[in-house]
Amino acid sequence: MVTEQELNFVLIPLLAASHIIPMVDMAKLLARRGVTVTLVMTPLNAIRFTAVIDRAIGSGLLIRVLELQFPAKEAGLPEGCESADLLPALAFRRNFFVAIDMLQDQAEKFLEEMKPKPRPFVIPDLPDRIEVTKCQLPGAFNPGTHCIQDIRDKIRAAEIRAYGVVINTFEELEQRYVDEFRKLKDGRVWCIGPLCLWNNDNLDKAQRGNKTSFDKEDSLNKWLDSWQPESVVYACLGSLGRITIVQFVELALGLEESGCPFILVIKAGEGQAPIEDWISKNRFEKRTKERGLLIRGWAPQVLILSHPAIGGFLTHCGWNSTLEGIAASVPMITWPLFSEQFLNERFLVHVLKTGVSVGSQGVMHLGEEVVPEVQVNKEEVTKSERPNIYANS
Ligand code: UDP
Repeated sequence: MVTEQELNFVLIPLLAASHIIPMVDMAKLLARRGVTVTLVMTPLNAIRFTAVIDRAIGSGLLIRVLELQFPAKEAGLPEGCESADLLPALAFRRNFFVAIDMLQDQAEKFLEEMKPKPRPFVIPDLPDRIEVTKCQLPGAFNPGTHCIQDIRDKIRAAEIRAYGVVINTFEELEQRYVDEFRKLKDGRVWCIGPLCLWNNDNLDKAQRGNKTSFDKEDSLNKWLDSWQPESVVYACLGSLGRITIVQFVELALGLEESGCPFILVIKAGEGQAPIEDWISKNRFEKRTKERGLLIRGWAPQVLILSHPAIGGFLTHCGWNSTLEGIAASVPMITWPLFSEQFLNERFLVHVLKTGVSVGSQGVMHLGEEVVPEVQVNKEEVTKSERPNIYANS
């Protein structure tokens, strides 16, 4: 819930006395309810209303004035014409509105800057206290620009009509959640996982899902055999997730600086070219070849996770990967990307306490992975891989 102290009303009056006067009254009225009010004006209008606003502020009201620079000259107006009632002639009306129109960029920049930072909230009625921000929620509550709500609705309707639900999980893992779900589904819930454990044969484990980029699993096994038990970090962000080049760089450098041996999986696709470019320009593969192994394309994940040399799994928290990590008893470094993965992260980090988060902030909607800025930096990656995180797991 947003408290009154956190609410901020922004009032942008048309620059005319007859609009500003009632807006100032409105500002006082709102501020008396304990909220903050920002009045957007221009310097001369601010001076004109300063006495009344200062008195309101002096009486304890949370009112502030934001001044936008009025482009009188650019719009062909004489200086000082910042309010409609101060125009020397009606012929200037058009120029006046042009000037007001020119304020849009300044006003938008200000609104962008004051956007509230995402606040975590507690998801109600869960067996544990789970906090998330809105931008970490699955697509149904936090859609991207490619809206698939109509398809979601169909899936949901089919789920509701279904006789029951078979789930790739096991009761001991999340009994209280299974119990709650059973109540909703009249008991018709069956947990049959972790399904990955049905692959006992190494060939089955290796060839699960796709052809691996290793012709012979032997070479991979030999590489893994050469490391101490529980010393290698395996980093793979699932089959769908594509991280941006800036994030890849932080991930790669974080792995390098951790000092741990590592396997890093690089997915094929449109994002691969800039990644390969960075790797070769920075000689990353050569530089780290003593203890780093890059797998391009499909990695035999379940085979890798079952090797005793694996000491940590840097995962995007897809449910399969989550369960595979749990089934292999490997502590996890969590880097959720999209879908329900932030909730899986919370489960690993806050409920099971077998995961450490790198601090991913919000969903990267599939197909929209173009955000240029860094969400997770290499220091976070390095910190979460330090061997002491495994001590308590
Ligand atoms: N997987 C794999 N090799 C890869 C990438 C993924 O074997 O290089 C498998 C992984 O073991 C898991 C599945 O693909 O079984 C990925 O499912 P998950 O729910 O973890 O994530 P998603 O790919 O749906 O994001």
